[in-house]
Formats: sequence, structure tokens, C-alpha cells
Amino acid sequence: MGNDLCTKCDGPRDTTGYPKWCRKCRAANKRECEKARNEMLESKGFAEGREEMREHLAAGFEALGHSRFTGYEIAESIRRVPGPTVGE
Ligand SMILES: [Zn+2]
Repeated sequence: MGNDLCTKCDGPRDTTGYPKWCRKCRAANKRECEKARNEMLESKGFAEGREEMREHLAAGFEALGHSRFTGYEIAESIRRVPGPTVGE
């Protein structure tokens, strides 16, 4: 009879093969996988956005060539930059 129990919580098993889990544990595992996947995509998107913004700002200042700016002016112009758009 023990063969019909979930290996995680001893509930009634819902699978015939592996993993030997109940419906509840399978659902919980699916949620965990989706959560981990979303976190992975979020941090990937964050890293890509950071690189886009870095290059966007660098290209903007590069285009100004030999102009001289104070730190305050640079800070102000960085704050005013709308930033790159998705897929730019
Ligand atoms: Zn279970």
C-alpha cells in the first residue's frame, strides 16, 4: 500500500511514473518552477536593461565630442534622459 503514497507528504499519489507525488505536491512544485523561472527572466531583463542604459548614455555623451561639462550638468542631463525603449 505504501507504493501508492506521495514521496513528499504521504498523501494519495497522483502520478503513475516519476516523480511519485500527490496532486498537491505536483501543483506546489509547478508553482515553484514558475516562480524561479519568472525570477530568472526578471534578473535577465534587469541586466539587459542596465546594459542598454549604459550604452545609451555613453552614446549620448560621445555624440557631444569635446564639450566640457560640470558634474552638475552631467547629473542633470542623465536625469533628463528618457532612456532606451524596449527592443531598441
Ligand atoms: Zn504530496
